[in-house]
Amino acid sequence: MSKGNNITEFDLINDYFSGMTRRRRDVLLGIGDDAALIRVPKGMDLALSVDTLVAGVHFFPEIPPADLGYKVLAVNLSDLAAMGAEPAWVTLALTIPQIDDQWIAGFCSGFTELATRFDLQLVGGDTTAGPLSVTVQVQGLIPAGEGLRRSGAVAGDDIYVTGGLGDAALALRCKQQGTDQREDMEQLSMRLDRPVPRVEAGIALRGIASSAIDISDGLVADLGHILKSSGVGARVTLDNLPMSPAVAAALEESGDWAMVVAGGDDYELCFTVPPERRDQLAEIEKQAGVAITRIGVVEARAGLRCLHGDGSLWQPDRGGFEHFANGSGQY
Ligand code: ADP
Ligand code: MG
Repeated sequence: MSKGNNITEFDLINDYFSGMTRRRRDVLLGIGDDAALIRVPKGMDLALSVDTLVAGVHFFPEIPPADLGYKVLAVNLSDLAAMGAEPAWVTLALTIPQIDDQWIAGFCSGFTELATRFDLQLVGGDTTAGPLSVTVQVQGLIPAGEGLRRSGAVAGDDIYVTGGLGDAALALRCKQQGTDQREDMEQLSMRLDRPVPRVEAGIALRGIASSAIDISDGLVADLGHILKSSGVGARVTLDNLPMSPAVAAALEESGDWAMVVAGGDDYELCFTVPPERRDQLAEIEKQAGVAITRIGVVEARAGLRCLHGDGSLWQPDRGGFEHFANGSGQY
C-alpha cells in the first residue's frame, strides 16, 4: 500500500485476500510473495484481460460492496468468455479511501461467489489508499490457436447472441427515473448488478464461431467492432432480438429500440457462425445452458443495418456508451 497503515494492510491481505478463493494445483505460489508463480500447461494459450471500475463513472459510489465485488469480476470474465477462454487466475488491485472492515467483507463475498463458480484463484494484487477504484485482471486458458477473435466474420455467416438484451439498461433506467417500485425489479436488478458471464458458451464456441465479442456497450457498438475488425457489414432483424417480457413491454410502450441495441451492460456474447455449422448450435445451447438466438447475417457491404419488421431501417440516435464521448461518465 502506498499510503496508510502497513499493519492494517497486512491484516487485510491475511484476513481477506489470501484465503478468499479455492487453491488450484497449477498455482505454484499465490498471494504472499513479490509475484505469483503459475505453471501454464503445455499446448495452451494464455488469455489476459484487465478492466477498471471507477466510483462515479462505472458504478454508484453507494453500491452494495458485494455487488461491486461480483460485477468487477463478472465484466472481466465476460471478456475471457468472448475469447473462448477457461478462466483460471485473477489479480485484484483495490484503491479504497479507508479500510472499512464491513465494506471489505462485503466486497470479498461478492467476488468470491463468482470466483468459486468458475474455479478461479486470486493469486495476487495491490492495495492502495485513494478514491474508490477497482482493477481486476483475469487470466484464462485456451487450447493453442483456438482463441475466438473479433476479426473472423465473413459475408454469409449468421449472427447470434446469447441470452437476452436490454434488461440491464431497463434496470438502470428504472433506478434513474425512480420507477423501481415494480414487482420484477429484483429480477431486473440482478441483470444489471449480477450479470452471468457466458463462459460456458464461449468455450463451447471454440472451433465453431468465426468471430465473437461480449456485449458491454450495446449490440450496435459491439457488433460494430466485429464488423470493423472483419472488414464486413451486416443486417440485423430487430424483431428477432431476444428480450425478456419486461424489456418487450417497455419497448412496446416507448418504442425505444436504443434500450435494446445500445443500452449496454448486457454481458451477453455476440458471435458469427458459418451457416454450414448452424446445426451444431442446438448442442452448444444445451452445453452452455443459455439460449442462443440468430439475429442477422454478415454482408460484404460495410456498415450495420438494423431492420424493422416492415423492412424499414432503424436510425440510431445514439451509439453505445463511450468513455470520453462527451467528457463525462455514465452516472
Ligand atoms: P509488494 O510490496 O512486494 O508489491 P504488497 O505488500 O503490495 O507486495 O503485497 C503483498 C502480497 O499481497 C503480494 O503477494 C500481493 O500480490 C498480495 N496482495 C496485496 N493486495 C492484494 C489484493 N488486493 N488482492 C490480492 N492480493 C493482494
Ligand atoms: Mg515486492
